[in-house]
Amino acid sequence: MRSSRPTGSLVALVAAVALALGVGVAPASAHPPHPGQGDKVPVATGTGGAVTTVDADATRVGLDVLRRGGNAVDAAVAAAATLGVTEPFSSGIGGGGFFVYYEAATGQVHTIDGRETAPMAMQSNAFVENGVPIPFADAVTSGLSVGVPGTPRTWATALDQWGSIDLRTALRGATDVARRGFVVDQTFVDQTTANVARFSAFRSSSDLFLRRGAPPAVGSVFRNRDLADTYDLLARKGVDALYTGRLAQEIVRTVQDPPVGRRSTLVVRPGLLELGDLASYQSPLRAPTLVSYRGLDVYGMAPPSSGGSTVGEALNILEASDLGDPTQTLHHYLEASALAFADRNRYVGDPAFVDVPLEQLLSDGFAAERACLINPTAALTKPVAPGVPDGDYASCATAAAGTEGTDGQSTTHLTTADRWGNVVAYTLTIESLGGNGIVVPGRGFLLNNELTDFNFTDTQGGNDPNLPGPGKRPRSSMSPTIILADGAPFLALGSPGGSTIITTVLQVLVNRVDLGMDLPAAVAAPRATQRNTVAVQAEPGFDRAPLQALGHTFVDNPEIGAVTAIEFLDGGALLAVAEPVRRGGGSAAVVHDS
Ligand code: GLU
Repeated sequence: MRSSRPTGSLVALVAAVALALGVGVAPASAHPPHPGQGDKVPVATGTGGAVTTVDADATRVGLDVLRRGGNAVDAAVAAAATLGVTEPFSSGIGGGGFFVYYEAATGQVHTIDGRETAPMAMQSNAFVENGVPIPFADAVTSGLSVGVPGTPRTWATALDQWGSIDLRTALRGATDVARRGFVVDQTFVDQTTANVARFSAFRSSSDLFLRRGAPPAVGSVFRNRDLADTYDLLARKGVDALYTGRLAQEIVRTVQDPPVGRRSTLVVRPGLLELGDLASYQSPLRAPTLVSYRGLDVYGMAPPSSGGSTVGEALNILEASDLGDPTQTLHHYLEASALAFADRNRYVGDPAFVDVPLEQLLSDGFAAERACLINPTAALTKPVAPGVPDGDYASCATAAAGTEGTDGQSTTHLTTADRWGNVVAYTLTIESLGGNGIVVPGRGFLLNNELTDFNFTDTQGGNDPNLPGPGKRPRSSMSPTIILADGAPFLALGSPGGSTIITTVLQVLVNRVDLGMDLPAAVAAPRATQRNTVAVQAEPGFDRAPLQALGHTFVDNPEIGAVTAIEFLDGGALLAVAEPVRRGGGSAAVVHDS
């Protein structure tokens, strides 16, 4: 059943009149920079295709591709490449991600697993020294945390499979932004500021991102000619240039011998990556996860992401429950999240290494067993224990102990749709904000620290599915999601935010489908996240009192997630939505405004 149609505001995409923003302080240039953030609008309604990202330049470049006749896949790659320029601390060719695609011609949903992969030399104790786990911050800023980047191969795979333009054409807009520059906004400054200490440790990173040791000024123009040249290289030679060419050698050298400055006091451990790891990297197509929720078909990302299985299990638990009034709906949302997280932590890892009981985790029987643990009048004591997804679901399972995972604050999600009805939900990352902090010298991009998504030591009593391993992919929480109603697209969405990605996607769905909010309101509403921890994390605006009365306890989280989404309205119109405020606000646009 499709819930009521939004009456959401019609905010027209304003032309790039904010070009003036900051240009006055920019160094003189024959080519003016791109407009930057002043022309962002978070909601757009219309036809002919849509792009929504966290960034105005990325949305504009994606929209240009659509306007020139490109499809949703072309636009997604073009926008992602632009985010690699303008959001370099959240994504880029040094990282990985998951690409979910609805193909209108066949009605099928496909996914690409572009997750980074551990080196073959990595063993399960790679993050342990003298019997003790390495401090997390040390692991983040290291060579050890770098997995083989999956993003370039993902772009090539997506374009080969479903694109209508080649990589050279798809990279053109992003290369132009890198070369001509973009106008620095407050979010870029804040994200640079958070990284000043570690960027200062690496000449390559400070040369690119700092100006005399400090972030660039708001309104100044930021150019990345090294990245423009790297994109040109990929355009000429294809992405193999990164996996086997001189660039591969430079990546390996940077990982094995991080270019830490002599005056730095940082302990920067070298990594294990070798040329063979890069040369053998694949971004496989995987079957999506699928659950039915209130008549909607919800497609997500299968392992090694836990996004599809955890969002799917929680939705199944909610469907097996009586949600009642809005307080009960949110109570069940929190409880379903905690239960699904317990199961995620216990059972989900790289399927090449772990026998993930995916079918059972997503079964109605398992969901019913988990749902019967929820008490409408009292919150469960957290953490809850994982269930037993064994196909035998006669009664409620009992609870013991669970764990709380670590997560980063980086990542970005974009959503595109085209005039033919194809849709992309694509989440990509370099893990922490600023990845591992190390720019490959002369190449203009940061490396990922994705391998810190492994558990450093066993968290599951001898059964941890997410310990490091040779060639293994760390478990992800990325949850690019596409939802069909009666076989046609209804909603596509995703978010950054480490493991809060899962609850963010879930909460937006509950807001939209169960609480009847329109999509802009569902995205903007204050968020709370319960990932099987003692206390719920909540944004300041989240109404806690009714849930505290049921026994939930809360701690503050200033900002959770940064959603982009597209809803497919009756009559063929598209409602493209980004954040109005979080992460400085996002940028939604359609080809023809209505
Ligand atoms: N590395 C995280 C994951 O794959 C995403 C990082 C983030 O969003 O902060 O789940």
